[in-house]
This record gives sequence, structure tokens and C-alpha cells, in this order.
Amino acid sequence: MPSVDTLPQVGVHSTATILNNPNNNDFGRQFIQKYLLNEDVLVRHNAAVPTLYEDGLLEKGTMISSTGALMAFSGKKTGRSPKDKRIVDEETSTNEIWWGPVNKKVDEHTWLVSRSRAIDYLRTRQKLFVVDAYAGWDPRYRIKVRIICARAYHALFMRNMLIRPTEEELASFGEPDFTIYNAGQFPANIHTRGMTSNTSVEINFKAMEMVILGTEYAGEMKKGIFTVMFYLMPIRHKILTLHSSANQGVKEGDVTLFFGLSGTGKTTLSADPHRELIGDDEHCWSDHGVFNIEGGCYAKCLDLSGEKEPEIYNAIKFGAVLENVVYDPESREVDYENPNFTENTRCSYPIEYIPSAKLPCLADSHPKNIILLTCDARGVLPPVSKLTKAQVMYHFISGYTSKMAGTEEGVTEPEATFSACFGQPFLALHPMRYAQQLSDKMAEHNATAWLLNTGWTGNSAAKGGKRCPLKYTRAILDAIHDGSLAKAEYETFGTFGLNVPVAIPGVPSELLNPQKSWVGGEKEFEKEVKNLGTLFAENFTKYSDQATAEVQAAGPVL
Ligand code: ATP
Ligand code: MN
Repeated sequence: MPSVDTLPQVGVHSTATILNNPNNNDFGRQFIQKYLLNEDVLVRHNAAVPTLYEDGLLEKGTMISSTGALMAFSGKKTGRSPKDKRIVDEETSTNEIWWGPVNKKVDEHTWLVSRSRAIDYLRTRQKLFVVDAYAGWDPRYRIKVRIICARAYHALFMRNMLIRPTEEELASFGEPDFTIYNAGQFPANIHTRGMTSNTSVEINFKAMEMVILGTEYAGEMKKGIFTVMFYLMPIRHKILTLHSSANQGVKEGDVTLFFGLSGTGKTTLSADPHRELIGDDEHCWSDHGVFNIEGGCYAKCLDLSGEKEPEIYNAIKFGAVLENVVYDPESREVDYENPNFTENTRCSYPIEYIPSAKLPCLADSHPKNIILLTCDARGVLPPVSKLTKAQVMYHFISGYTSKMAGTEEGVTEPEATFSACFGQPFLALHPMRYAQQLSDKMAEHNATAWLLNTGWTGNSAAKGGKRCPLKYTRAILDAIHDGSLAKAEYETFGTFGLNVPVAIPGVPSELLNPQKSWVGGEKEFEKEVKNLGTLFAENFTKYSDQATAEVQAAGPVL
């Protein structure tokens, strides 16, 4: 099988002067034009899926799965690299950005070094891929995005994940609002000021560009665009950006948002045969309703089964990209249970591959139910609780979950984590700005909010607890959606002051209250509840000077 390594290298091009000029604002356009004119280099500009397959198959390890998906490998990095994410410190955005460990500063000089490095690398390639597409389904607010990359699988991934323009729209696409230079195969320069490893993901809000060096994990591109939306939408349009999935009832037209960190169930639970899928990961809530940012889904594949998750399983066909899965070399059948390469095996597919997808992916009504998903590996939180207004804000700001192995580099054991707005790694502005906006919107539209623990029950993951079976979580959701749960009888769950339903059809009643389902003694349980409560309280001190007394009081009482 030919590999990129055996292809002849291209020499220095006459376009070098233009390409190296950092002051050139028209860079993206000239880059493409020059390449299109250069016979040595093939530019696949908005190539069709079969072409991307053919090019993809020339890459080492890339194969076609038995169901027709393109199986590719991202190399060493198989999850996001949050420690290597940087925002350029420049005058147009510096006063808005939430600087700190999430958004680390990089100066304009270092940015130029990284950017030149990425571009110089791309210039050495024989073949380049350019994808033009939109982010945001509401035409009033969508942005035009261009991806320039060297791997066919990256191009196909972003073609799936962004909103594919019609032929007409492509003809008049013009210049992009935002450009990603993905040179992930090539390292960042560790000797550059501010670089701490050979991976760097840098966003520049003045240039409206992003550069990727040293990681080929495709998810960096989609989450990069997400950060751009977390910046642009509130600043430009006062629109709330959400790390959530969304779906809509077929009959009632009621919209549900599912907030949650990685692995808590946004993708899994939003794919519901009884409801239309608006999107599985990134949304915006405007004065007109809810719109999806993306044109595709990026589902976890570990332990995926056709029986439990038929919608997602059947979406893995021609056009879909399988990332880092283990497969049988003969039959090309994917071994979904195999975590040996990574726990974070993924598949990306256009949203229309889900039969219940709603196209266009937006709703002109406001959310009726807001679900905060958590995956508690300690087995302490109840599978479902109905939240008061103050509790929603408390839990939204806290963003508790157990970080599961896989999606981030270096996480191999479940660990308690608090991630503001259930999306801290992607926030561009201070979390309280989003929290305040959510609070206002919920009050205006009178949404009911729930906390759903899709994690462990009975005991912790380490001590023999079991993950809440998917069928029970789905039964809980059915009761929320048919309106019965809002009217059910409730009891109070101790320290956390949560309202827990006494019974739900199709769910064993003892499962609903962790105190009753706990295996391992009352004392141990009390201790675990207190431990988790303490972690909540400690975390919330970060926000105590900004949250109202009412919201602060909505946390665990120790
Ligand atoms: P990401 O932000 O990384 O895309 P996500 O929130 O979309 O994460 P999912 O991809 O839906 O998370 O992952 C949830 C995983 O947990 C799936 O593999 C699903 O099969 C599994 N799972 C097991 N039990 C449950 C449950 N009760 N509810 C939801 N998911 C469950
Ligand atoms: Mn997901």
C-alpha cells in the first residue's frame, strides 16, 4: 500500500514570499489560489466523499470498514490536548477573554511563529484539502469556515461535522469568516517562547484563524470552532452558546436541551426514536429558539451495540469516519469492545444519517426541559432529581461529573471534576456570563430543569457499583417528556437537598434513591455523600463572590 512517506516531496515554491508574509490579511485566499495554479500540488477543494476516500486510503493504516466507513488513525494523540490550547493576546479580544488555565495567553509573535510553521509544513505537501462550510444552522448567525489540512480523513471529518453548503451556496461562498490551518502531523517548536510541548492549538480572534500543530486528533478542529462560537455569539449577537445536545418532540414540538461533559450521554440520549434530533453536542439559544452549530455528530464507539443504540450503530456507513477503532484485518469488522488502542474510539457522520434528524437542525421554539447530565462514578447522586431555579444555577456553574478515561489525553481512571457550564474547556468568556444568560432565558421561557446521573448506582465504580442501565435512563426521559414526572410525588435527598421522585414506570423504585440502592452500609454511604458535598463546596468558593446568596444556598448543606 503506498503511503505518504513514499510520495516525492515538493520543493520550495515561488509563492514563498506571499505565503511567508504575516501581514497578509488575504492569506487564505491567496494560499488557495496559488496552490490551484501550482501544478506540483493538488488541491482538493470541497472534494466529494469518494475522492476523499481514495485519498484517505493512501494514508498509512486507513481502511474501509465492513459497513463502508473510512477507518483512520490519529497517531499518538487520541483525545483533546486542553493543556496545549492557547488564545492569542491581542487588543480586540483581550478584555473579553476569560484568561487562566483554560485560555492560556500566547503573544502575537509566538502565534506568527506557529502559524508560519503550520503553513510551511502544509506547503511541503503534495496534496492539500480545503473544506468550506458553515457553523450554525440559523442563517442569521452562521459563520463561514474554511479548513486547510493535509490529511483526507481530517477533510472528510470536517465535511461531516460542519454544515455542508448547497452547490449554490458554495458558488457564492466568497471569503471565510474563520480559517483553520491543520498541520497536526508537524510539531510545534518547543523552543518558541510560551511553548510547553510539541503540541499547540492556537486561536486568534483578531485574525479569525486557528493553527493546529502536533496533534492529529480530529476533535480539536470541531471543538476549536466551538470556542469561536462561545466567543462570537454572545459578543456579536447576545446569543447563548451551549455544550449540549438537543431534540424535539414530534407531536408537541417541545425542545429538550441535554447539557453534559464528555461521556455523560449527550449523544446517546439525544438519539431517541420518539424525538427529532436537532444536534448532539453544540448549540446556540437565541431569541428565536435553538439552533445546532454543527452538521454532524461525533459519537463515542466504545461498547457500541446495534441493539442498545441502533441509530448510531446504523449511521456508521459510507461517508462516516471511524477514528482509532480496532478491526479485524480480514473481515474489516470493527471490534467496538476493544479499548486497547484508546477508550476514546469515535465515529463522525453527517447528522442526516440519524433517521430522526430534524433538518434544518433548529427549532423556532424555546426549551421546555433542561437536563443537566452528570456521570457520577461515586454512585452518590440520584439517577434523576427535579431542580429548583437556584439549584439549576448552582449545578450549571459547578458542572460536576466524573471524568472518564479517553476523551482527554492522560485520563485513565474516573476522577471527580468540576467544569463550569458543563463545558469549561471551550468557554471563551467568564463562566458567570453564560450562567447569567442561561438564568435569564430560563426565567423568560419558564423551562423545567432536571439533574440526571447517568453514572454509577449502588456503590462507586471502584467498589462494585453498576452504571445506571441505559434502559432506565431512557424510561426516566420518557417520563420527563410525557409530562408525568413533573407531576410525580417527590422526597428530599439529604445533604444535596435534591427532589427525588418516589416512582417512575419502568424503573425499579429503590434505584431512584441512592440511600436505598446503596450496597455497603449506611455509614459508608453517609461518608461518601459528605465527601462529594465537600468537593462541591470547595469548588464553588471560586464563584462565591459572584453568585447570589440564593444560588450559593442551593448547594449541599454539610
Ligand atoms: P462527548 O461530549 O465526548 O461527545 P457525550 O456526552 O456525547 O460525550 P456519549 O457519547 O453519549 O457522551 O457517551 C455516553 C456513553 O455512556 C455511551 O458510550 C453510552 O453507551 C454509555 N452509557 C452507559 N450507560 C448510560 C446511561 N445510563 N445513559 C447514557 N449513556 C450511557
Ligand atoms: Mn457526544
